Amino acid sequence: MASVTLQQVSKTFGDFTAVDSMDLLVNDAEFVAILGPSGCGKTTTMNMIAGIEKPTAGTVQFDAQQVTNMPVQKRGVGFVFQNYAIFTHMSVRENLAFGLEVARRPQPEIRKKVEEMAEFMALSHRLDQPSASLSVNEMQKLAIGRSAIVEPRIFLLDEPLSNLDAAFRERMRSDLRQLQRDLKQTMIYVTHDQIEAMGLADRIAVMNEGRLQQFDSPEAIYSRPANTFVAKFIGAPSMNIVRARIHPKGQKLQARLGDLEADSITLNQRQAAVVKDKNLEEVLFGFRPEIVSLTDSAGPQTFGAEVALVETVGRRKIVHFRSGMIDFLGVFDRGERISAGEAVRIKLDTGKCHLFDFVDGTCLTLERDPAHV
Ligand code: ATP
Repeated sequence: MASVTLQQVSKTFGDFTAVDSMDLLVNDAEFVAILGPSGCGKTTTMNMIAGIEKPTAGTVQFDAQQVTNMPVQKRGVGFVFQNYAIFTHMSVRENLAFGLEVARRPQPEIRKKVEEMAEFMALSHRLDQPSASLSVNEMQKLAIGRSAIVEPRIFLLDEPLSNLDAAFRERMRSDLRQLQRDLKQTMIYVTHDQIEAMGLADRIAVMNEGRLQQFDSPEAIYSRPANTFVAKFIGAPSMNIVRARIHPKGQKLQARLGDLEADSITLNQRQAAVVKDKNLEEVLFGFRPEIVSLTDSAGPQTFGAEVALVETVGRRKIVHFRSGMIDFLGVFDRGERISAGEAVRIKLDTGKCHLFDFVDGTCLTLERDPAHV
């Protein structure tokens, strides 16, 4: 297997820039998800790694080898797309054996690997049946097994589970993760589904409008988003981001959310230091719905709000609050007693709040994990 390095890779189609100055280092045996909304450049990035598209600028490297201009057949990549790519006129066994036959591997090795892969993919009972007789779910399993069996240098998967039904998708997710670990396979996985990316990947490359927004572990992407795009894109419901004015109070600084006059949030030392350093009068104040809690006391770091709407979704209650001019969401256990129209007092854990630049949305309080810089 191999590492993949993209350096300042760009792709333009006419005067449209699909991928803009992308830097990415995927380590050997790492599982990386490329995540972003439709049209953000995920597939184009993947195609440049595969050799299907040539970058307009920049370089692609596998380990120390330059592959920027190498044709796709010579790169040793395997790929699986949304629509299963199998030979329907062949049996399941023939499909699984195909890549190994092309590579002229010895017959006993082919037989052994085919049987192992069939067992892993729960297709053993289907081995000698025509692949055209498989269900859609089984066909995609076969497509994945068929590519994985040759243990390509890099395994590229572009939305491979999106055509499958929900229950099967979950099963396939854990199978894929297992397969990647067993084979120590370098995998790059394109998806627009954050749950898939968060559950599968060692690291996630979040893209928007052709640009890499953040490349980090799922945990870091969730708890230390680099900007308002990542903060809003990851997490469901997404992070509350409201305008806040900065006001001094004694020795401290306060963030006045929306037009709240009396009730403000006192910034902690780290937040205050950034604001002072940049002499900011206004910021975007971010807090996840999960850190919103209710309190009976009108102490510090609390403010009043009205419950506008309560939605019960599975085991959770998603509560829509309004406080002055700001609207925000909170997430609670299903058992929480809270109903629309109620006046409540909100408490926020300031240490878990984020300050973003009011103009360009970059996180001002980002603490980088040294392992993932
Ligand atoms: P999706 O999730 O919808 O597949 P994506 O993030 O994979 O989206 P890409 O397929 O990489 O996005 O496309 C990025 C942008 O580049 C889109 O606006 C697309 O229309 C454009 N694009 C891609 N390929 C071409 C092409 N061959 N010619 C012109 N424009 C293209």
